[in-house]
Amino acid sequence: MDIKRTANAGVLLELDGERILLDGVCREEFPYLGTPETERRALLESPPDGLLLTHGHDDHYDPSFVSAYLQKAAGPVLGPADIPFCTGQSGQVGDVRVTAVPSRHIGKTEPMEHMSFVLEGSECAWFLGDASPLQWRSREDLPKPDVLIAPYAYAIGSGWQITKALAPKQLVLLHLPQRNADPYGLWKAVEPALQDPQGPQISIPDICGTVKE
Ligand SMILES: [Zn+2]
Repeated sequence: MDIKRTANAGVLLELDGERILLDGVCREEFPYLGTPETERRALLESPPDGLLLTHGHDDHYDPSFVSAYLQKAAGPVLGPADIPFCTGQSGQVGDVRVTAVPSRHIGKTEPMEHMSFVLEGSECAWFLGDASPLQWRSREDLPKPDVLIAPYAYAIGSGWQITKALAPKQLVLLHLPQRNADPYGLWKAVEPALQDPQGPQISIPDICGTVKE
């Protein structure tokens, strides 16, 4: 599995020959990073095999990109029914099975439909979007992913305890701003998890940086 960070909280995931874009293009919303124009163009020149969208917030979803994508590729585009381009929730991208897991958005936001996605091929990844970690506490029916792709909250406090209970081999941490432009102190907040020898390996890719599992 190859994972390339292409947006604030989005990646291009390659698994078993399929290229799947997850919340993978957004505009910059300071302090959160946007997709560089060159990357956005490259994603349209060589369109992924499918798009997955967790919810409609601007730091996860760019309707103009999805529209341009659908002029070049047949999809599928999977995500919540309130995003007009989505034609379904769970489905198949080539040999990779995609299962939508209805999820509650982190923190106090306007009620908005949100789902996370489990991708299963020769390996398993669980992409959380902005799903709150707390909803998974004490649940027995959760996926057992090789790789958890999640926002910073999964490396802080009780979110970190839940990550350790899920026990992925690797945690790919997203939704972090640049270290030198971090008004909420998020890098400092995840530091104890980075030092914790009992947790999974943590990767924090730069925009356009890659992680291999
Ligand atoms: Zn959100």
